[in-house]
Amino acid sequence: MKSFGFAAQSKTAPLTPFHFDRREPGPDDVVVAIDYCGICHSDIHQVRDEWGGSMYPMVPGHEIVGRVSAVGSQVTGFKPGDLAGVGVTVQTCMACENCKAGAEPYCTKGMVGTYNAKTYAGEVTYGGYSDVIVAPQHYVYTISPELDLAAVAPLLCAGITTYSPLRHWKVGPNKKVGVVGLGGLGHMGLKFAHAMGAHVVQFTTSESKAADARRLGADEVILSKDESAMARHAGSFDFILDCVSATHDLNAYLNLLRLDGTLCLVGLPDHPQAVAPFSLVTNRHSLSGSMIGGMKETQEMLDYCAEQKIVADIELIGYDRLEEAYDRVVKGDVKYRFVLDGKTLKR
Ligand code: NAP
Ligand code: ZN
Repeated sequence: MKSFGFAAQSKTAPLTPFHFDRREPGPDDVVVAIDYCGICHSDIHQVRDEWGGSMYPMVPGHEIVGRVSAVGSQVTGFKPGDLAGVGVTVQTCMACENCKAGAEPYCTKGMVGTYNAKTYAGEVTYGGYSDVIVAPQHYVYTISPELDLAAVAPLLCAGITTYSPLRHWKVGPNKKVGVVGLGGLGHMGLKFAHAMGAHVVQFTTSESKAADARRLGADEVILSKDESAMARHAGSFDFILDCVSATHDLNAYLNLLRLDGTLCLVGLPDHPQAVAPFSLVTNRHSLSGSMIGGMKETQEMLDYCAEQKIVADIELIGYDRLEEAYDRVVKGDVKYRFVLDGKTLKR
């Protein structure tokens, strides 16, 4: 089927209007007319080929909310007119141990991303900076009409990527939890950790974000360049979620963990980062990572957000401001997620 959106033609070119074909919906597919799409820092890493292996033309976008416009004959959970979301994943093998356990991002055959990927059949995937998307029903989520839909879009990546590790490491009351970096992921991690009842400390490099961090649920805010403030918290955290997009010193955070504490990376800077063995050996620390979340868990997160009235803090923008938004995200100047308004996508 015909689709229209914005694409990067190379790692240095600005995103420009692009006409392309998507597959005709099969029996298991849901077609979603896109109303909103969030801008994730992963979009920028991939458009600029910072992780390597990028494919062009690339239509980014994996924080998608819209309305179902058609369904295949075997689709049971959706009908035309329903609100629906699509996130980072559009295909997994559904047969390996990890898929069966609901951990589809860790599919042993390899999960297929919503864009910049190829399906098992070899079809190139194109993301949500566009008018419409086709995805199998397993990768489409039910969205509550109770929340601001534009602000729901970032839950599909920033939301689940922070919710999943917080649940996995059992964050809750009587836990001291750190969130590093107040960007798209960080501000969701902060909201969730606060809602789950933890004592939450936000780490930031941006003094100007301190008041916002408190408003978003932080019990304490630490400027990470303030060495004496960092030192006062040494050995005290149960869990720290690192949401930073650029190279930074991991040892500074490992040293803040208590006995058996975990530093979990969700941020994906492109360069390796040095870890001092002493930062791990001391207090039996763990350094870990986490990728998005499973499909069932994503729906659980969306339902939790509907119940708790949690959405992202967003700046809703038109496609004419895409380049400006990318530049501002890279500078850490976003409050706290840009979301593209589908109404501004003019053919
Ligand atoms: P973002 O909105 O740009 O937020 C990143 C934040 O990191 C910034 O707001 C800034 O916060 C901090 N930061 C930036 N540069 C820094 C530096 N040089 N040193 C220290 N802190 C710095 O990005 P995002 O969309 O939240 O994504 C964050 C990272 O997660 C990206 O690398 C992205 O690719 C990755 N990601 C991973 C997954 C996954 O499944 N694991 C999913 C989605 C995204 P302060 O101003 O508060 O310091
Ligand atoms: Zn993302």
